[in-house]
Amino acid sequence: MIWHGIIEKYREFLPVGPRTPVVTLNEGNTPLVFSKHLSDILGVAVHLKCEGLNPTGSFKDRGMTVALSKAVEAGARLVICASTGNTSASAAAYSAKAGIGCVVLIPRGAIALGKLSQALVHGAKVLALDGNFDKALQMVREIARRHGITLVNSVNPYRLDGQKTGAFEVCDQLDGRAPDFHVMPVGNAGNITAYWKGYTEYHRAGRVKTRPRMIGFQAEGAAPIVRGKIIARPVTIASAIRIGNPASWKSAEAARDESGGLIGMVSDREILEAYRFLAAKEGVFVEPASAAGVAGILKLGKKKFFRRGSGATVVCVLTGHGLKDPDRALASAKKPKGVPARLESIMKAIRA
Ligand SMILES: *Cc1c(COP(=O)(O)O)cnc(C)c1O
Repeated sequence: MIWHGIIEKYREFLPVGPRTPVVTLNEGNTPLVFSKHLSDILGVAVHLKCEGLNPTGSFKDRGMTVALSKAVEAGARLVICASTGNTSASAAAYSAKAGIGCVVLIPRGAIALGKLSQALVHGAKVLALDGNFDKALQMVREIARRHGITLVNSVNPYRLDGQKTGAFEVCDQLDGRAPDFHVMPVGNAGNITAYWKGYTEYHRAGRVKTRPRMIGFQAEGAAPIVRGKIIARPVTIASAIRIGNPASWKSAEAARDESGGLIGMVSDREILEAYRFLAAKEGVFVEPASAAGVAGILKLGKKKFFRRGSGATVVCVLTGHGLKDPDRALASAKKPKGVPARLESIMKAIRA
């Protein structure tokens, strides 16, 4: 079957009609890769849902295809969003495809190089705010409300409708079974809300017999849900989850509680360890935020959270591609070694 994106594939579960113009870059259909090393370490079957392979390099595309399709259907000429980076990259690309304008408000100096390049090259109007993401979101909500501009942050319900298709795909890729545990990073908490919605709708439609326990991880310096309070100045190297006051806080807690799951936190050191582990052992290059879930299950594994040999299935969503943040990759690896153009010198360096 030829793939035409998530709207064509999961149309019956989405708020689109026959006359909705489908704005798509053929997002979705991302690989679910078995992780031998994580499975050996934890004693359960761990699969990696590689969302960095979406058209703009993150899961945001699943939401953006629906948000932009509905915006165009409603006659919008301009969309706006606040972003830690990936939302702006995705909104810029889908707006370009739709032929409408896009404004993005980013925290000044706080978004990764790849993401900034994307927003700029797709022709969005990029405004760098003196303030963090939470402030930027507050400002665009106000501007959208006052000036009738379509907001495409995850407070737009169409975003979550699109993102819930990630759960459908996981179940389809596991041959009509839901995983026992679903693991992911949590920032603004839209995606954990969306996945739980997806699993619940698939379950209700009889496509799967069970639903997973939802397990989310925040970074220690940006863990408002874990700590139970707004973090005024969130800090973490994982810029995509550097959020102190998540818009979908309540629904993330509902996903956690209804599923019998948990939301925990991991340190930046643990995130970077998992980041290097995924790249070096599994051949999967992700951005730092994406490694938070893997860091989290490694931590849970040490506390014997998973029953070794139980046959349980764990799916970890790897939310964004490693090329988004090349500075981080270079900073966490050894520099290339210079060699003169002589065979003996090259061989000497290889053997060293
Ligand atoms: C947006 C994003 C997240 C956080 O998702 P929320 O829906 O905000 O919780 C995590 N990782 C990456 C790479 C992202 O782009």
